[in-house]
This record gives sequence, C-alpha cells and structure tokens, in this order.
Amino acid sequence: MRKTIFFLSCLVANLGFSITPSNALQLLIDGNHRYVADQLMRPNHSSDRREAIAAKQKPFAIIVGCSDSRVAPEIIFDQGLGDLFIVRVAGNVVGPVELDSIEYAADHLGCSCLLILGHEACGAVTAVLDGHTQDIEAIADLIGPAIKGAKNVEEAVKDNVRSIVQHLKKTPVLKKLIAKKKINCIGGYYELGSGNVEILK
Ligand SMILES: [Zn+2]
Repeated sequence: MRKTIFFLSCLVANLGFSITPSNALQLLIDGNHRYVADQLMRPNHSSDRREAIAAKQKPFAIIVGCSDSRVAPEIIFDQGLGDLFIVRVAGNVVGPVELDSIEYAADHLGCSCLLILGHEACGAVTAVLDGHTQDIEAIADLIGPAIKGAKNVEEAVKDNVRSIVQHLKKTPVLKKLIAKKKINCIGGYYELGSGNVEILK
C-alpha cells in the first residue's frame, strides 16, 4: 500500500500536478520511515529524472534544516533530484535572506509543505544555551529569544523550531498561502542515532 502511494505520488509530481499539503507531508514521513528501516528506494536519482527537470523544477516540499553534515534532507527523507527545495544554515534559523528563499519556493515553485527541521545535539543551539555565542553572533541573535525557558538542548532545539514555525506563519506571503491551503508549515525534530523525524505538535 505504501509503495502504491509512493509511486502514485511520484507520478503526480512528475506530471507537474500539485500535491496537497497533507500528501506532501506524508511523502516526507514515508521517505523517513524507509530511511529508518534501511529500505531506501532512492527515487529520482536517474539521468532520465535529471533531464526531465533540467528546464523546470517543481519540488514538493521546502526543508529548512541545519548545516550539520549528519542531517542531509534528501538522504533522511529518501528523496531525489528536484524533490526538495532546501535552505540549510546552522541552527536552521530564518533571517531575511532565508525568508526570501522560502517565499520564492512557496510562491513561485508551488511547494506544498514547509518543514522546519531541528535536530538532536545541535551545536548552534547548544552554544547559545551555554552562552558561547562569540563566534556565531548573528545566528545566536535569532536563536536566543526562542530558547529562554529551555532546560536542556532537546527542549531548546524544539523551542527554536516552534518559534520559527510561528514566525513564518505570520509572514505575509506564507500567511496568504496557508489561508488558501496551498502549503502547510510544520516543525520536526531529527534524532541522530535512530534517524527518526518526529513531527512536532
Ligand atoms: Zn545543528
């Protein structure tokens, strides 16, 4: 059943139809389940796919993730070329530059899902929690206010993600797209050891 949904979704994506926000999230969740279970399908890695999307991209999801080398979105969600529009920066923060990229993908490329992905033992969040911000001041300025009440790194990472989600939902372009049910904006937490992505409520 899962394979059927997967192939139907690929077909829909390849034909250029829009994927609904809930289907887009399900594609990410299913891909992560395959990754965790060591059952990767490695979709859309072929030269055919490369040629098919050379003239036009139509990614179905935006991932805002950390630069950490262990949290590579295409791998942990088992996706391929042209599937994910990715913004990666330490601490998965969103300032004006990142917001421009997100809005471009949401408004012009028609992505249906915006996932802010924090991760276990994030170095940037840990540094801010410990007050060691001298080398990452611009990033710390964005993380600091969000994690004031956090008691440990996991809580701080999740607070940071939730704060970014709330912020993004209020920005004009995304607010309009969310109201029209064109895109959903959600948070996730990636566990380094298990590979599991928890969708945050
Ligand atoms: Zn990190």
